[in-house]
Amino acid sequence: MSPETLAVVAGRPPRGPGSELNTPVSLTSTYVGGGSMDGGGLGYGRFGNPTWEALETALGALEGGSARAFASGMAAVSAALHLVPADATVLVPHGAYNGTHSVLDLLVEQGRARVERVDVTDAAGVRAALAAVAGPALLWLESPTNPLLEVADLAALSAAGHERGALVVVDNTFATPLVQRPLDLGADVVVHSVTKFLSGHSDVVLGAVVTRSEELLARLVRHRTLHGAIPGPMEAFLALRGLRTLPLRLERSQRSAAELALRLRGHRAVARVRHPSLPDDPGHELARRQMSGFGALVSIEVAGGAAAADAVVDAVRLWVPATSLGGVESLIERRRRHAGEPVVVPEELLRLSVGVEDVEDLWADLSQALDAAAPLA
Ligand code: PLP
Repeated sequence: MSPETLAVVAGRPPRGPGSELNTPVSLTSTYVGGGSMDGGGLGYGRFGNPTWEALETALGALEGGSARAFASGMAAVSAALHLVPADATVLVPHGAYNGTHSVLDLLVEQGRARVERVDVTDAAGVRAALAAVAGPALLWLESPTNPLLEVADLAALSAAGHERGALVVVDNTFATPLVQRPLDLGADVVVHSVTKFLSGHSDVVLGAVVTRSEELLARLVRHRTLHGAIPGPMEAFLALRGLRTLPLRLERSQRSAAELALRLRGHRAVARVRHPSLPDDPGHELARRQMSGFGALVSIEVAGGAAAADAVVDAVRLWVPATSLGGVESLIERRRRHAGEPVVVPEELLRLSVGVEDVEDLWADLSQALDAAAPLA
């Protein structure tokens, strides 16, 4: 079945006369005579839950692997980073999500990892960095990256990682499995901030991992159970409800994002537009090959620097000045306002998460805000 259909049908309870169409929210901390942590069966509320399982079935079907839900995207990121021993080197994109950089900084501080920042658009450079690693390695990939929207060649880099015996993890939050399936391209593990497009309504914090390896899955589940990084049943229910409409939301958001990227390029207050849909974007050709769309995030660099970018954020009325992304509402944020944002992200960069509002309304609001900031340019 196509992903559009799977998003609707996967993870439903068995069909029968009078059966529930949706898996209900299962609120229980224990199961009568239940199984044990390693012995199968749900057993206890930290080991498993039918509402988590419904979401996991649907997400696994979309990514083409076995999925497990986590308390947040960061809980999933942390579980994946713990798959390698303390003497491993983690190669991470210089412009990756700042939370990933922060948890890696913490692991380095505690002597639990070494970290090397790489430019994932430069496959030869990543290969050389892998070759220079002594001991175990984990290659962390994001594509498109947050918020530079750089595109990495997931197939080539996964192969390069495996040649060196590295574990390859892809954070697929920005693309979603509707647009790109990293396990098909060779990755060992996919992680998600389910908080974002998958849930889609800015009302849930949740994460997930997906893999085809039974061994890695068992280790990830063990981490979840022992560290208690488990999702709430209500969150899992809401995430699955959101997932049902992912194809529709994403289709609209991606179309609007590409349209806005084109229009933004013509605005005098905008110095640079980053979106892989633009034919002269450095990631355009690769994105065409690797993705079935170009994503719903657009980043712009405002002429006039951080002050002008802040003025744009202050002047919007429909766009919501807020962190996060992937919801039905369009959000705008200057990323460097966060102290932990990588310095490769320009001070004047605004990340736009394009929602499902009418594109003309979005443009009217954004262009008036840019007009207001133009005198600073
Ligand atoms: N990965 C990416 C690419 C993200 O953008 C985020 C959050 O913004 C995360 C992981 C962390 O997810 P969460 O906020 O659900 O913990």
